[in-house]
Amino acid sequence: QGVTVQELAEALDVSPNDIIKRLFLLGTPLTMTQSMSDDLVELVADDLGRQIKIVTPEEENTFSFYDDPKDLKPRPPVVTVMGHVDHGKTSLLDAIRHTGVATHEAGGITQHIGASQVMINGRQITFVDTPGHEAFTAMRARGAKITDVVVLVVAADDGVMPQTVEAINHSKAAGVPIVVAVNKCDKPDANPDRVRQELVEYGVIPEEWGGQNMFVNVSARQKTGIDDLLETILLQADVLELKANPDTFASGYIIEAKLDRGRGPVATVLVNRGTLHVGDTLVAGMSYGRVRAMLDQHGNNVKEAKPSDAVEILGLNSVPAAGDEFRVFEDERDARDLAEQRSLKARIEEQNKVKHVTLETLFSEMSENELAELNLVVKADVQGSIEALADALGKMDQSEVRINIIHSAVGAISETDVVLAAASNAIIIGFGVRPQGKARDLAEKENVQIKTYSIIYKAIEDIDAARVGLLKPTE
Ligand code: GDP
Repeated sequence: QGVTVQELAEALDVSPNDIIKRLFLLGTPLTMTQSMSDDLVELVADDLGRQIKIVTPEEENTFSFYDDPKDLKPRPPVVTVMGHVDHGKTSLLDAIRHTGVATHEAGGITQHIGASQVMINGRQITFVDTPGHEAFTAMRARGAKITDVVVLVVAADDGVMPQTVEAINHSKAAGVPIVVAVNKCDKPDANPDRVRQELVEYGVIPEEWGGQNMFVNVSARQKTGIDDLLETILLQADVLELKANPDTFASGYIIEAKLDRGRGPVATVLVNRGTLHVGDTLVAGMSYGRVRAMLDQHGNNVKEAKPSDAVEILGLNSVPAAGDEFRVFEDERDARDLAEQRSLKARIEEQNKVKHVTLETLFSEMSENELAELNLVVKADVQGSIEALADALGKMDQSEVRINIIHSAVGAISETDVVLAAASNAIIIGFGVRPQGKARDLAEKENVQIKTYSIIYKAIEDIDAARVGLLKPTE
């Protein structure tokens, strides 16, 4: 379960053949997809004049997130808005942001960064702007805790609908309290009481009826009840006594990330512990980098982000995934090592799924994976067969896929041929020869196709058919 030859090659940015060669010289012949022991990795890297550091999973987990209770300070609530489609989630968020901007005096145009912070009565609330329980649960599945309170939007003229029930179940599964915003109360056919009655069936019971849930009647369109809703969220947050240690290295989660043409990878982070500063080095999933700049939702530069703050950061080397955890590292090298180690692991998992091209899959590989070259390893009993094949291939239309004979020789198909084919995503063609020794087993393990023929024109026919997707699986 170590790093494979190919992974190491990618990590060190050298050709896999270079590594295979060195391994061979070290007396340890391995193929592309075989994994190497840590010692071997170090030896080969050393051989190549490269310094590497192997991070074990144990080391990765030695970071302690323990906080002394005396270091904990109150932090603002983080809220996600959920509800049935068209019940007004987006409109409500807009109305809330509008209120927030007015009180915040931050000015400027609100940018979409995936989260917004609003102030009410001098207190902050952070809203995650991707409404809906799908995104919420997708992030939760990745271990991200990004919500303290759920605002369940239910349209007063429509009542409880299927996605309302889903949102309730997702919130309950996450153990997050629900504040109900009964929306569209401006409508003539609005019936807020009916919404309350319907929700009882799903265990969401108004406080005034002896239940646990706070309800607020609002109209996102007329912007009524918004202050009341925000104050209610704060009341709910007070019950939760949300706290975090702000005086430590920051950690939290990625809410959104994208590649920006001018600015490179851009990610919105939600800090849930510590304080994030410009200049900090952090790892987020498989990405790392130094925070070059931090921006709030108004596009203003900010110097630090405290627990429950959401800011956009610039400076990562790649785009992390929503739901990835991030954490600040003291040492930039440690950060890079961890990020690289993680991408190696991810690629190993990917690699384990690798199947090399076959004549039967060639055409779909060409269209789906933009494969532009067909590599062949040709072995034959006589040199004449090799020349005849090369000749015929030379006359074939190669505008769609270029056909390369990367290796040809007289003799049986050997393990080395398979290793080469695996490393080059090649198919092995044999004329009047068969796989020798363990070559067949290795080919099976490495997913390398071996096609043997006794007549040359049959091979040419197959390759020509494969080229245009007309070769049907026979085996
Ligand atoms: P979402 O799918 O939950 O995000 O819902 P939207 O915010 O897109 O709203 C769906 C529709 O309901 C839009 O046409 C809104 O203008 C309308 N709408 C949202 N809130 C209100 C409200 O408070 N009153 C009225 N009358 N219409 C609303």
